[in-house]
Amino acid sequence: MSTKDSLQRFLFENAPIRGELVRLNATWQEVLQRHTYPEPVRNLLGEMMAASALLSAMLKFEGSLIMQIQGSGPLTLAVSECTSERNLRAIANWHDDLSGASLPELVGKGSLAITIEPKQGRRYQGIVDVGSGSLTKAIEDYMHRSQQLETRMWLAVDETQASGLLLQKMPESEDLHERDLLEEDADAWNRVTVLADTVHQDELATLPFDQLLRRLFYEEDVRLFEAEPVSFRCSCSKDRVHNTLRMLGYEEIISLFEERPIISVNCEFCNHLYEFDRVDIEELFASDFKVEGSHTKH
Ligand SMILES: [Zn+2]
Repeated sequence: MSTKDSLQRFLFENAPIRGELVRLNATWQEVLQRHTYPEPVRNLLGEMMAASALLSAMLKFEGSLIMQIQGSGPLTLAVSECTSERNLRAIANWHDDLSGASLPELVGKGSLAITIEPKQGRRYQGIVDVGSGSLTKAIEDYMHRSQQLETRMWLAVDETQASGLLLQKMPESEDLHERDLLEEDADAWNRVTVLADTVHQDELATLPFDQLLRRLFYEEDVRLFEAEPVSFRCSCSKDRVHNTLRMLGYEEIISLFEERPIISVNCEFCNHLYEFDRVDIEELFASDFKVEGSHTKH
């Protein structure tokens, strides 16, 4: 069994349908090592990671896709982010009164927000309800409403891996010009999704992708593209923490030193601890004052 975490695209040669497969082992372990989650929260977070990796294939530019669930139930917040470089991170917050494992039991009245955030340019966010049903249903609903794309998704998560399969009807404009589909195959989407519905959780979790596709779509002509590596990587940095501190303002930060000699900022995603003493803070704001000073001369 291959243990390399990867995202792999495939295409049906005779039907306007594309797909993605993802499997996270090491990436998933990096998340689980940093925080201990109760099983239902862990499973949802794993599903969100696999799903955000699958959807990150939609990013046509440098940036990231952020999936966020907020609710009124025991699970208050779950976030998963995948960048165009396929770097993933995820975190969940919950209360201790977990009483069920289904999505509605976890989140109560909740919403799923999917944000596409380009490095340059405007961010785009779409929101759907998750109060009834599953994460995959909510995502399929989102894709249909926000992107006008028929999409189906299958996810499998346990303590060792988070995996997923996505199928998507290609937009007609994109497909017909590029490929010469000889006959109209009106039934293809139904046929292919019915076949994919037969996938077992353990197949999704362990079968090599080429074998999995052969098992599911034996009679279809499927082209599998090269696998892209996926890994855990947090996008936090000293610069980002600096920016946050700057936004709080000099007076606010300096007043914190009355109670402690060191200010520490902890990144929840990766547990990295950023620490600043008074000198660090004076230096940080001193460089700002210099910039401001030069501006006031104009
Ligand atoms: Zn971090």
